[in-house]
Amino acid sequence: MEGKIPHWLDKRFELSPDQTAIQLKNGKIYTFRQLRADAIAFAGKMKTLGIQRGDHVGILSRNSYEMVVAIHALSYVEAIGVLLNTRLTVREWSFQLKDSDTSYLLYDHHFKKEIAALKEHVNIKAYSVNDVKSVRKTSIPLPDEMDLGQTFTIIYTSGTTGFPKGVQLTYGNHWWSAVSSALNLGIHEHDRWLLALPLFHVGGLSILIRSLAYGMPVHLYEKFDAEAINREIIENGVSIVSVVSVMLEDMIRHLGDQTYPETFRCMLLGGGPAPFPLLNACKQRNIPVVQTYGMTETASQVSTLNQMDAIRKLGSAGKPLFPARLKIISGNREANPNEIGEVYVKGPMVTRGYYKREKANQEAFEHGWLKTGDLGYLDDEGYLYVVDRRKDLIISGGENVYPAEIESVLKEIRGVRDAGVTGKKDNKWGEVPAAFIVKDPDSFITKEEIVHYCEQKLAKYKVPKEVFFVTELPRNASKKLMRRKLAETLRQILTRGEHE
Ligand code: ATP
Ligand code: MG
Repeated sequence: MEGKIPHWLDKRFELSPDQTAIQLKNGKIYTFRQLRADAIAFAGKMKTLGIQRGDHVGILSRNSYEMVVAIHALSYVEAIGVLLNTRLTVREWSFQLKDSDTSYLLYDHHFKKEIAALKEHVNIKAYSVNDVKSVRKTSIPLPDEMDLGQTFTIIYTSGTTGFPKGVQLTYGNHWWSAVSSALNLGIHEHDRWLLALPLFHVGGLSILIRSLAYGMPVHLYEKFDAEAINREIIENGVSIVSVVSVMLEDMIRHLGDQTYPETFRCMLLGGGPAPFPLLNACKQRNIPVVQTYGMTETASQVSTLNQMDAIRKLGSAGKPLFPARLKIISGNREANPNEIGEVYVKGPMVTRGYYKREKANQEAFEHGWLKTGDLGYLDDEGYLYVVDRRKDLIISGGENVYPAEIESVLKEIRGVRDAGVTGKKDNKWGEVPAAFIVKDPDSFITKEEIVHYCEQKLAKYKVPKEVFFVTELPRNASKKLMRRKLAETLRQILTRGEHE
């Protein structure tokens, strides 16, 4: 993507220096003036440590103001940020650092022990954020423009379906993502966006870029806390929150009979399939839930429901955002309305490719379109419904079975707190669905009752043929259900012959 724009934090400083940029859970506030000064100072210190333009710099940190500063500092040095998932193991970090040719690593002191172990696996110069702060700073020439075609970050996919891949995102990708979101959701004068998703995922990071582009305060949380976040909405004027479904379920549980005020205008729900019981609970409680579809490869949202359609199109992820295009491919042709196929997307927020993955890139791109690996359909009016991932599709007796649809029904059952479905090999049908259930703590629900409920709601071939009670489901840092881990668990159970 061609073109240059003024440096985004400098520009924001020029426009509204005393506006709040970041507000922490404890109420502490940082203005754009402060944020810019801290980021420039941090950049000067990075320079002293030898970090230069074009270097790949890993960041391993929990959400914090310091992490925000470090991320913006990268843009002053024109280094490329490799954002590491804090929940991974030393082995996994070391893979990603080598894979991304990262030479420096900045970490939050919490990871001191892990860093010592990491250094045995990978040759890297690692500094804690405090180390960086304590060095003198070198003055650096500030870039007065940003080249939209230059890479800003390499973010690894969530690893829900397999090995995470390093997605290169340019300044332009991030910029267009922020602009596209605003063209759909609008920018309101009093907006405050709460950020409790990890900053190392694009869902969290993209909120920071929106904050710069819109001049909007971000309420930054180190981690998700349903009760505190409800309070921020009810008492502190938070108007938008980005969530994934398990977070929202938790917030509703904690909400009790309280309601959100009118100042709250958008519960942006993405990251995975939205179960119908959850969407209905929001409808009943007048929670302005807006479903969105996006991925690391699209720098966050690529298709989002318009708020006006929130009720009329419940369950849909809306239409592609203004600069984006979307099509559904079934076989070798474009699918008819309501016909399920693979979702393809195109637009200025879409990555130009995975870092150093020639083969994956060849497979993922076709004439400038990204094949998402997700299955979905467009209704008669062109609204997108994402059904599931292609990899998770269960084919049973020649019929397509979508685990997300079964999970959604299972979650309707009173006493079922969480549900995950995967395919089990079957001599007769090829594969059959198997369900893993987390019960509510006080529930006595039985497997028979669960199957009976499904029989009332689902075609016979979709009814789980096995039901397992578990204490929790395997979820990754984005709280996404890792169905491949369910499949592994299932294999283990079956080899041990534990099931009845
Ligand atoms: P990996 O690519 O490593 O397997 P991942 O796909 O989970 O991990 P992300 O880029 O964080 O990594 O997630 C994007 C994926 O999340 C999408 O491709 C899609 O499968 C799922 N997703 C996002 N939004 C929705 C939605 N509204 N409905 C259904 N699925 C969604
Ligand atoms: Mg993916």
